[in-house]
Amino acid sequence: MEECIFCKIVKGEIPCYKVYEDDHVLAFEDINPIALGHTLIIPKRHAENLYEIPDEDLVAIHLAAKKIIRAMREALEPTGVACLQLNGKGANQVVMHYHFHLVPRHAGDPELPITTWELKPGDKDAIEETAKKIAAAIKS
Ligand code: AMP
Ligand code: ZN
Repeated sequence: MEECIFCKIVKGEIPCYKVYEDDHVLAFEDINPIALGHTLIIPKRHAENLYEIPDEDLVAIHLAAKKIIRAMREALEPTGVACLQLNGKGANQVVMHYHFHLVPRHAGDPELPITTWELKPGDKDAIEETAKKIAAAIKS
């Protein structure tokens, strides 16, 4: 993955504001932060997104997320932390190396649109049919 910017960060070829690392993951500050403390956790091994990431790395990402949001709670005293992860260009994934966003939230911050969708009851038949389609396609 010669051109992947996050692989370059893992290799130390470009700098980052590192927050945490272990054998599987690296966490660093987003350089276009939604808020101060906006942190990205990535697997050290390249994987494009949730479709591809090995289970072992996914587990490591989530264990790191737990560690880091506890540290954020202590260091930044947020009122909450939003966790966000995008898969594919259609979902606005820009960097094609899996990354898990942690965004500390404070009173008065602008709303995150993804967290404030209108709660309108859906079409129950369509919901049920779609659930069945997904369930039937799940592979163990
Ligand atoms: P997305 O793929 O939309 O989930 O977001 C990619 C994120 O990576 C954006 O929030 C960028 O600001 C962030 N980003 C891109 N390049 C760097 C970099 N060199 N260091 C830190 N964050 C980056
Ligand atoms: Zn990569």
